[in-house]
Amino acid sequence: MTRKNVDLTGQKFGRLTAKYPTDQRKQGKIVWYCECECGGHAYVSTSYLTNGDTRSCGCLKVEQDISNIREGYEKERVDNVVMSLFKGQEPRKDSGTGFRGVSKYYTRKSKELRYRAWITVAGKRYYKSGFLTPEDAYFKGRLELEKKYLPKENENETEK
Ligand SMILES: [Zn+2]
Repeated sequence: MTRKNVDLTGQKFGRLTAKYPTDQRKQGKIVWYCECECGGHAYVSTSYLTNGDTRSCGCLKVEQDISNIREGYEKERVDNVVMSLFKGQEPRKDSGTGFRGVSKYYTRKSKELRYRAWITVAGKRYYKSGFLTPEDAYFKGRLELEKKYLPKENENETEK
């Protein structure tokens, strides 16, 4: 009995400080009136205090819950960003023609496969469409576009 009901007065357990024993008993253990760092208070039995089960008036759990929720949101947000980035890259995969700046498309009416050269210069995109092969689109389209829109630096590219 004496071992069970140690004097915890003034001892700290997490955020709680045991202030005085009450007349209440829980499973034979003294229930202590505890003050919490947050200004709240709690009635906690000796065993819950000493085994570390209860470390606040409840505010700790609330904060933990809030931060769990926040983490959940943040994780979800990151996932969304990742998802949308991934989505944004999908067309690039589809347009793989083996030639830089060449993508395939289908003509609107007859649904024929065509190739289109494009180039992005200073945020603007220029197109040359209607090629029957990706080679044509590259050599007659893309290189033309490069010649036209890119600042000239290396002349030793492919022949005209
Ligand atoms: Zn508290």
